[in-house]
Parts: sequence; C-alpha cells; structure tokens
Amino acid sequence: MKSESAKGVSLRDSTFTDEYYEQAWSQIASSISSQEEERIEQTLSLIPGDSSSILDVGCGDGRITNRLNSLYSKVVGLESSREALRHVKVEKILGSVDSLPFPNKSFDLILCCEVLEHLPFRVYPGAIEEIQRVAAKYIIVTVPNNEDLGRSSVVCPHCSCVFNVSRHVRSFNQERLKGLFSQFGLQSLQFCLPVKVYPSFLIKGAKFTGLLPKNPFPTTALCPQCGYSSSSSGEASLRAITSDRDRLSVRLLRPLARRLIPTKKRGTWLIALYQRG
Ligand SMILES: [Zn+2]
Repeated sequence: MKSESAKGVSLRDSTFTDEYYEQAWSQIASSISSQEEERIEQTLSLIPGDSSSILDVGCGDGRITNRLNSLYSKVVGLESSREALRHVKVEKILGSVDSLPFPNKSFDLILCCEVLEHLPFRVYPGAIEEIQRVAAKYIIVTVPNNEDLGRSSVVCPHCSCVFNVSRHVRSFNQERLKGLFSQFGLQSLQFCLPVKVYPSFLIKGAKFTGLLPKNPFPTTALCPQCGYSSSSSGEASLRAITSDRDRLSVRLLRPLARRLIPTKKRGTWLIALYQRG
C-alpha cells in the first residue's frame, strides 16, 4: 500500500468505498454521545426562522433529520447508504450529494453536517456545486475543526493498513470555510465544544515514550482494506493492552498534565451558516 503523505498516512481516494460505508453503518451505534448532542443542538439553533423546507444531505441515520420533521413544512433526507437510511423517518432518498435529484433552489436550507470531510476527491467538487444549486436561501455546514488527519489515524493490527479512524479524508479550518461556496456568503461561524489541546510535540513525545498508546484501535474502527474490527474479531488482547495504557493515562498522567502543561482551547467542530447572495 502506497503512503502518500509525509506522515506515512495512506488516505487514498478509493479507501472508503460505498460498500465500506454500508458495513460501517451497520456497526455505528444509534446512541448519540453528549458531545454530539451538543453539536446537534447548536446546529439546530442556527437554522434561520424563515426556513420552511430543508434538505439534509448525507443525513446518515437521520439523527438530525428526524428531529426536524414536525417543525418544518418539508424535510427530506438524502443519503448514499441504504443501511443508514433505514433509520430515517422523514421523506428519504438514496442518492449522492454530487447529484441531487431536485431542480434549482428547491429547498430554503440545505444541511450538510459531518459530510464534507468524508467525501472522496471525485465527489467533493460536484457536491459543493450541487449544494449551492439546490439551496434557495441558506446552507449550514458542520465539520471537525482543523483536524490533524494523521493524528487521528490508526494502524490495522491485521493488515497494517493506516487509515483515519473516523473515515475522514480532508480537514477544514476557518479560512477554508470562508470561501467554500462561490454563490453564498458566510453569515455566521461558530465553534462547538471547546476542549483543551496540548502542543502536538508533547503528544508525539508521549506516544514515542509509550506514555500514551501509539495507535489505539477503537472498537468502532473498521479497516477499509481487510475488514478487521476489534469488536468482531475476538482479539480481545489487543484491546486489553490499549485499555490498560488508557487507564494509566486517564488516572495519572492526564490530571498531572492538566496541572503542569499549558493548553490552548480549541473548538472540536466548526458550524457555518451561509446565505445566498
Ligand atoms: Zn486491515
């Protein structure tokens, strides 16, 4: 497998296929973490009052879409995973965000939440064009804030493939969001869930010395090359090593680090509202 970046992370365009997402969605828990709940609430609070029709592109299992149904006159969820779409309770369409089956300006608002960072290169430019073609007034985008794709990557213990554990293939920051749509201007840009972050050289040092686990393989991770996942493999020992280190890190090192090492606060996500014109 080719490594394409200086950090040795292989993030090929074809890494996360449609079939891969079908399998991944079948393993994604329907429960929502408190962090994600906060992001969803903040996203919903940004919807302008004069929006009556909403298209949620890449709606996944409808964790946002299903909440909109009773509040707006028309709500549609579009998603490329049949597996995810099973959970969507509003009008739903199996489709791709780079080919929206609607006339121009069909919806007051298009929601695009936690989608753009997943899109392969062949889909991404078309997706940006399609979203602004079909949105009449507004677009809301949420993405991880300034994610270091290499740092959130793992090595598959079975085939040694390196991949981003959240299946992300691109990273966004404030600057990149500002010029995202040529026909829409940025009206509001919010940070969501500020967390303390340590300087990256300290994290690298802690991983190098073994104080932090180098590449913990979470139970939610699914290898795009060989299909390995720790939850289905029965290789509990791999998880045990990781969790012992994690416990040490959580109990002793993190409280100590919080006291001694200066941190910067950084939002986990960016939430952007755009308006046509
Ligand atoms: Zn693998």
